[in-house]
Order: sequence, then structure tokens, then C-alpha cells
Amino acid sequence: MILALDNIHAHYGKSHVLQGVSFEVGDGELVTLLGRNGAGKTTTLKSIVGVVPSTSGSIRFAGKPVQGLPPHVIASQGVCLVPEHRGIFKLLTVEENLLLGQRKRSPWQLDDVYRIFPRLKERRTNGGGQLSGGEQQMLAIGRALMNNPKLLMLDEPVEGLAPVIVEEIVSQLKTIKAAGVAILLVEQNLEVCTQLADRHCVLEQGRIVYTADNATFLADEEVKDRYLGVG
Ligand code: ATP
Repeated sequence: MILALDNIHAHYGKSHVLQGVSFEVGDGELVTLLGRNGAGKTTTLKSIVGVVPSTSGSIRFAGKPVQGLPPHVIASQGVCLVPEHRGIFKLLTVEENLLLGQRKRSPWQLDDVYRIFPRLKERRTNGGGQLSGGEQQMLAIGRALMNNPKLLMLDEPVEGLAPVIVEEIVSQLKTIKAAGVAILLVEQNLEVCTQLADRHCVLEQGRIVYTADNATFLADEEVKDRYLGVG
């Protein structure tokens, strides 16, 4: 098991946003975290990396407790979050952005990232600010890989992107998964989720209310209607 959350609670001031979140991600597994707007998906990701500290419960990464540790210590254990707004340095080149993520002895070097994202290689000397939205997303994922994550967490990676770019990113994520990186994906695009995932977890009002493998989820129209407003 790479990640295990047990009864995690988190607050913003008086607002009790996570009310006992429990789920697990296995080694090399791709799990989605689904749910309507405001369900607590982003907050769950932020709790895992320690940016929004959880107030009770336990978070274990590769068997070790991580809750309460500062974000940089959690990151150094191999958890990497690609946030919704990507955090690209616009005035640095593509290659400089990638090198910022680099770790000593990481199996992921520039050439490995360029093999997965040929567009980034083509644009290696361009400024981050000159990239399209899709290319910025690829750069954010590539930079996270340079950090050698055991668990890569992505917050709405294909939101607002053209279908042809979405397809490209889906195939790139398949390659990253095949390399053995576990992925926790928050994404509203259910087609993308069901193309990629081993398992889905649905969050509602700060609790996991449903978990199923991909085949079971695909066949379950009622759950899509009840918790996600589609189907
Ligand atoms: P979305 O898809 O809309 O981002 P989400 O499932 O990711 O939804 P969160 O962003 O985790 O949901 O938000 C959960 C709840 O916490 C919402 O009610 C939201 O308004 C609230 N919230 C989020 N960030 C903050 C913050 N910084 N301060 C106060 N409340 C917040």
C-alpha cells in the first residue's frame, strides 16, 4: 500500500470540510477521487501533502505516518501534487522549469521526460508563459516526475483542454502508470477517469461514500446520477 488515509478530518476555520475521509491507494495503482464541486477533493489532496493540516485521523505513506509533518518533508518521501493551477514559472524556459524539479539519483531525467512529452522537447527553450494550457499541464507533470514521485497526485489535469490534447495526456498518464508510479487523480471528466483508473472513490460532504473498481463503476448508472450528477 503506498497511501492509506484513515478517518481524516480537516477544517478551514470553523468550517469542517473533511469529516472522516478513509481510502487507500495500492502500489502502482491509479485511483480517482470523484465528487461534486465542494465535496472536498482538493482539500483531501492538500491534506495529504500537509498544506492543509488534518486535525485528526491518520495518513500513512509507504507504511509510515506523515500527518503533522511539514510539506517539504512529506514531499521528500515521494508524494508529489500537481495543483490545478500548475505553478509553472512563466519567465523560466521549459527546460529550466523541469530542472527545478530534479532530484539527485532520480531515475527520471530530462530525456525520460522528453520521451513521454515530445512537445516539451520541441519547446525546451521557450518560456513557460509561451506554452498553451495543455503544454503547461504536461510541463507541470514532467516537473513532478523529475522529483521521482512514488505517488503522483493530479488536480483536474485536463480541465479546459481541447479533446485532442486530453487524449495525448491520457496516453502519457498511461505510460507514467506503466512505469510503476501510483496516481491519485481528481478529475471531472469521467471518460478520462474510466479510461485510466483501476478504482474510483466518491467523496460527498467530506466523506467517502462509494468505492468500486472500474468495471463495477462503469456499470453503475445510479451512482453516477446520485453522487456526480451525470449518467
Ligand atoms: P471543486 O471541484 O469545486 O474544487 P472540491 O471537491 O475540490 O471542489 P474543495 O476545494 O476541497 O472541494 O472545497 C471543499 C469545501 O471547502 C468547499 O465548501 C469550499 O468552499 C471550502 N474551501 C475550500 N478552500 C477553502 C479555503 N481556503 N478557505 C475556506 N473554505 C475553503
